[in-house]
Amino acid sequence: MELQERLAEVWAKIVAAERDAGRPQRSVQLVAVSKTFEADTIRLAIAAGQRIFGENRVQESQAKWPDLKEAAPGIELHLIGPLQSNKAAEAVALFDVIETIDREKIARAIAEEMKRQDKVLRLYVQVNTGLEPQKAGIAPNETAAFVNFCRDELGLAIEGLMCIPPAEENPGPHFALLAKLAEKSGVKKLSMGMSGDYETAVAFGATSVRVGSAIFGTR
Ligand SMILES: *Cc1c(COP(=O)(O)O)cnc(C)c1O
Repeated sequence: MELQERLAEVWAKIVAAERDAGRPQRSVQLVAVSKTFEADTIRLAIAAGQRIFGENRVQESQAKWPDLKEAAPGIELHLIGPLQSNKAAEAVALFDVIETIDREKIARAIAEEMKRQDKVLRLYVQVNTGLEPQKAGIAPNETAAFVNFCRDELGLAIEGLMCIPPAEENPGPHFALLAKLAEKSGVKKLSMGMSGDYETAVAFGATSVRVGSAIFGTR
């Protein structure tokens, strides 16, 4: 199957999952995760109409995206991988959305850079719903306080929450937890669901799903 067919198939499944969940059509956004894929491959997705993309590394994105963004207006680029504070300036300059705010130091660095560059990004807090030691993200029981801290102390409007459930577990309970934490934190958006479980995520209220290999192929 060609990339454009795979993309169309993912979209069809999202629309079907929205319908099955009784949710309005197009209430879920598709973030096409293009990490490790070359600009020529990404151009095929852009040509098919895809405009929202996710990358997990700042440096790799700097090599690919300035040209791609210039060639196609309306691109929205999401950072979905861990961010070091010494990369905050580059990240703010290149990305439109950062989904991986997960500690005070990085929140401060992003707030300062947005001021310095006079650019407002949309921001998500990453939650480590499975409390996995090797995984980034704030603990579930600290999430609401951290969102409040970002808003009240740093003036950062957090738009939503993001999670990556443990690979070996049923994702449903993690998606349900993220939805509950969003409600408790007073945020509306939920970034959850990847190639293996995005339809489940839609059923649990995802407002965006991050799908890579189902569109671009195995990495
Ligand atoms: C790679 C990645 C994805 C996409 O994973 P697939 O299984 O290829 O769909 C989604 N979210 C994050 C944070 C990722 O790093």
